[in-house]
Amino acid sequence: MTEPPRKRMVRPPTGGTEAGRGRPVRLKTAKQRTASQQAWLERQLNDPFAARARAHGYRSRAAYKLAEIDDRFRLLKPGARVIDLGMAPGGWTQVALERGVTDIAGVDLLPVGPLPPAQILQMDFTDPAAGPALIARLGGPPDLVLSDMAPNTVGHRATDHLRIVGLVEAALEFAVQVLKPGGAFVAKAFQGGETAEVVTALKRGFREVRNVKPKASRAESSELYLVATGFKGR
Ligand code: SAM
Repeated sequence: MTEPPRKRMVRPPTGGTEAGRGRPVRLKTAKQRTASQQAWLERQLNDPFAARARAHGYRSRAAYKLAEIDDRFRLLKPGARVIDLGMAPGGWTQVALERGVTDIAGVDLLPVGPLPPAQILQMDFTDPAAGPALIARLGGPPDLVLSDMAPNTVGHRATDHLRIVGLVEAALEFAVQVLKPGGAFVAKAFQGGETAEVVTALKRGFREVRNVKPKASRAESSELYLVATGFKGR
């Protein structure tokens, strides 16, 4: 009897660390992949955070960004009510659950597989019905509003910047309407002109505002996180 042909496997990289990565994986064939898909795949295969996320069972490497922010600011506590805006595929919610949060509701345009006891809503956050639906699912005002929302980029820098700022502003407007006094807000933003106005608005509403660039945030990206604590109340 002849043996069936052995399947070739693409192995995840081994030995990569944050300090020193292993030898980079280069894909020899690019059949049926566009150049950007090829670049994305190579980056994933060479990314130590992506490898760690796979090994740990996190749905996204983004999980490490929230973990690092929380190590510094201690926002995820048992008993805290949390909103997760732009939650798919669910890495941030996984970190919140791991750190003892049980009351969490999130929303995304994309479907998210179950993460009990998290409440998951699939809709556009900018739909006026989204905010009330989230609060109804959460069962009360949140202590923490997280936003990792990012629009699909169109490749035009100024347009992309305005679109992300639009989402940060929508998240902030929601946060100041619903947060408990003393609450906190964390949002993905990008370095650039309009972000300064968001920071100014944050400083009016919160006692402390910080810019954070977590290690898992790619150095070549202008992404940063705004962390605002001590909500002054409405
Ligand atoms: N924090 C997530 C995690 O750890 O898995 C990753 C979030 S991903 C970087 C950004 C998400 O924002 C995408 O899933 C995207 O669908 C979502 N998003 C963008 N615009 C949105 C909108 N208007 N309403 C809801 N979600 C949105």
